[in-house]
Amino acid sequence: MTQTPTFDKPKVELHVHLDGAIKPETILYYGRKRGIALPAETAEELRDIIGMDKPLSLPGFLAKFNYYMPAIAGCREAIQRIAYEFVEMKAEEGVVYVEVRYSPHLLANSKVQPIPWNQPEGDLTPDEVVALVSKSLQKGERDFGVKVRSILCCMRHQPCWSPEVVELCKKYRHQSVVAVDLAGDETIQGSSLFPGHMKAFEEAVRSGIHRTVHAGEVGSADVVREAVDTLKTERLGHGYHTLEDGALYARLLQENMHFEVCPWSSYLTGAWKSDTEHPVVRFKQDEANYSLNTDDPLIFKSTLETDYQMTKQSMGFTEEEFKRLNINAAKSSFLPEDEKQQLLDLLYKAYGMPPSAAAEPHP
Ligand SMILES: [Zn+2]
Repeated sequence: MTQTPTFDKPKVELHVHLDGAIKPETILYYGRKRGIALPAETAEELRDIIGMDKPLSLPGFLAKFNYYMPAIAGCREAIQRIAYEFVEMKAEEGVVYVEVRYSPHLLANSKVQPIPWNQPEGDLTPDEVVALVSKSLQKGERDFGVKVRSILCCMRHQPCWSPEVVELCKKYRHQSVVAVDLAGDETIQGSSLFPGHMKAFEEAVRSGIHRTVHAGEVGSADVVREAVDTLKTERLGHGYHTLEDGALYARLLQENMHFEVCPWSSYLTGAWKSDTEHPVVRFKQDEANYSLNTDDPLIFKSTLETDYQMTKQSMGFTEEEFKRLNINAAKSSFLPEDEKQQLLDLLYKAYGMPPSAAAEPHP
C-alpha cells in the first residue's frame, strides 16, 4: 500500500460507477444491520465472491450486482455512506477530479417500476436518491479535497425510466449532477433507438445537460454510430469497437471524440481479448482523446493504480502519455469552462508544464 504509484501526480477520472465502487466492509455492515442475506461472513470472502480474477461474460458480470445491491438499495444511510466513502477512496488514489455515475432507479424502492433487486416496496424514490448522493458527494468534496461531479444513468433495458433520469439531471444540475449516461447491456438489439432513451437524450440536448453513452464496449461500431449520431453523445464509454469501422474512427478522431477507456475492466469483461492489441494502444499511437478509468473497482478488485500499472507494464505507457491523457480528460470533463480552466491550471502546475499550454487551442 505504501508503494509509490505508477503515476504519482494528480489524476482525473471520468468513468466510474458508484454502485461498482463500494467497500465490501460497508456491504457487510448494512447486510447485517438490515437482515439481508449475503453470500459471505467476512469482507475478504465477500470481496472474493463479488470480485473477478478471470474474464467472465457480460451476464456473468452483471449477476455480481445481485449479490450486494439488496444490502444497499432502499437504505438512506447506506446510500449516503457509499457516496461519502467513494470520495475518500478517490482522494487516496490521487484523483483531483472525478465524475461518478449511477442509476437513481437502481438504488430506489419507491416510485420505480419494476422495483429492483426483489426489494419490498418502501419510500425511497429515485428523486430522493439523487438528493442524498449529491449531498454526500458534496460533503466528501469538502472533507477530502477532491472535486466531484455526478452523472445519472439511464439503463438500456428500462427505457421507461429515462425521461425521469433527464428530469433529475435538470433538477439537480447545481448540486453535482452534470450529465446523463446510457448504461447496461448494449447488445440489446436496437436499444439506442428505444423512444424512451431517444426522447431523454433529445431533452438533454435541449436543456444543456451533457451526454455520455456506453457504446462499443462489447457492442459493435454500429452502436457507437447510434450513440454519436442519434443520441448526440459528447463522450463514449469505452468505445473500443469503433476501431472495427475505419471511416467512423477517422471521423471521431477528427471530431476529437473522447473515449473513456477502462483497461483492467475491458480485460475482465472480455470486451478486449487479451491475445489482441488493446484498443488503447491504437488510441495512444493516434494521439486520440481518451482517459484511463476504473469502471467498477469493487468487482474488478482494483484501484486506478491497477489501470495505470497495466498500461505502463504491458503497453509501455510513459509519464508523458499519462500527463497528456489526464489533460485530455480534464478538457473533456463536463465542468463549466471556468472550472475546467481551474482544473487544467492545477494539472499544468503539478505536471511542471507552462500555464500558457492552457491557452493552446485544440485542433
Ligand atoms: Zn461503465
